[in-house]
Amino acid sequence: MPAKVDMEKIVSLCKRRGFIFPSSEIYGGLASCWDYGPMGVELKRNVKEAWWKAMVQDRDDVVGLDTSIMMHPGVWAASGHIDSFTDPLVECKSCHLRWRADAVEGEKCPQCGGELTEPRMFNLMFKTFMGPVEGEGSIVYLRPETAQGIFVNFENVVTTSRKKLPLGIAQIGKSFRNEITPGNFIFRTREFEHMEVEYFVKPGNDEKWLDYWVKERFEWYAKLGIKKENLRLRQHGKDELAHYAKDCYDIEYLFPMGWSELEGIANRGNFDLTQHAKCSGKELSYRDAEGGEKYVPYVIEPSAGVDRSVLAFIIDAYDEEEVEGEKRTVLHLHHSLAPIKVAVLPLSRNEKLTPLAKEVFKHLCPNFMTDYDDSQSIGRRYRRQDEIGTPFCVTIDFESLEDKQVTIRERDSLAQIRVPVEGLEKVIEAKLKGEAFDASTLWATRQK
Ligand code: ATP
Repeated sequence: MPAKVDMEKIVSLCKRRGFIFPSSEIYGGLASCWDYGPMGVELKRNVKEAWWKAMVQDRDDVVGLDTSIMMHPGVWAASGHIDSFTDPLVECKSCHLRWRADAVEGEKCPQCGGELTEPRMFNLMFKTFMGPVEGEGSIVYLRPETAQGIFVNFENVVTTSRKKLPLGIAQIGKSFRNEITPGNFIFRTREFEHMEVEYFVKPGNDEKWLDYWVKERFEWYAKLGIKKENLRLRQHGKDELAHYAKDCYDIEYLFPMGWSELEGIANRGNFDLTQHAKCSGKELSYRDAEGGEKYVPYVIEPSAGVDRSVLAFIIDAYDEEEVEGEKRTVLHLHHSLAPIKVAVLPLSRNEKLTPLAKEVFKHLCPNFMTDYDDSQSIGRRYRRQDEIGTPFCVTIDFESLEDKQVTIRERDSLAQIRVPVEGLEKVIEAKLKGEAFDASTLWATRQK
């Protein structure tokens, strides 16, 4: 099944409307690095907030954490990342391009048809030096996942949070991987953000909790508007499981380049806590309050990418429609994700309209991300708001000066209702929460 939009259109919309720009663009850019513009930063914040709300705020069995990116190098030796976080890499003997061995079909270079070297293992961790002396003793790594910061704090969190198992620890933060083949816009980059939970359970309960989290995470994307037909689950084959994993499911999304991983949910067993206990010499176990039994917990890990989710939400929301003979591009983003919730648009820049329009803006902006725009024709301004996914536009016209009412236009149905300025924020708040937008039941009749 082909996806409905190609990536070029998404990249172009993101650039045009201030979602995502190439990094260091005035210097020609830096491969696979991207910057989030004014709209992108709001969307990304909203995705992270929606995740934090679902994973931490709405539950009493998950707490948050924010650990440092650079950690003791012993962490990465214990976790297996120094030995095993590698991809097999082949190099073309003619053009010297490098490829992930598992991404090349046949034995020739996909670029020039040249002969390829034997695969060599390539570690994906970025290395740097801490302090003024560059040497073996000062090597540190940029974390390739946030999970290890959670494992090494397991004891700290359990003893200070006064929670019993099952207990989840959640973290959002940057990760770095020196990917051999980054690409597809923000789908695979070398610097990205993870949203991860390590959910600690009693051994024996792990399979049940894996099922639970797979369902829970699948539903999270669907609740935030991703069409279910564009989501699917895939269980990993035994041969593709990561070195730490006992079982793993991917939630896949139908990206323009085909079905690809959006999030991985793994049963990490007790691999990490056992390794850290062994390598640090500190006991990392848990004593059950009821039976008094002591054990090393098993861990279920839902691990999602912020940037990859942002991409999926944009693609899924993207639509081109025909409205009264004209094409409009629109992002049908879930209200909670939309960068701007409401736009205040005086009909024109006429000086008589400005004071009321500014007053409405000042009224709304403490409550919602609000945009004020009075340049160009009203039609063009509506198009812009459609393209950034703004659910509601409030228009102030000359009648508004007389009757103190404004028009609210809804993004998806294009329906319009007229409501008093007084109490406008309550109306918008209710509509943002999902109250029906029904133009046939006007909130107020026009005062002619
Ligand atoms: P892939 O197979 O795509 O390389 P992975 O299985 O290595 O991903 P995980 O280690 O399971 O990925 O990380 C969990 C999530 O983090 C992924 O599902 C994805 O959303 C995100 N992610 C991982 N690597 C990258 C990357 N290089 N760029 C952007 N997001 C990433």
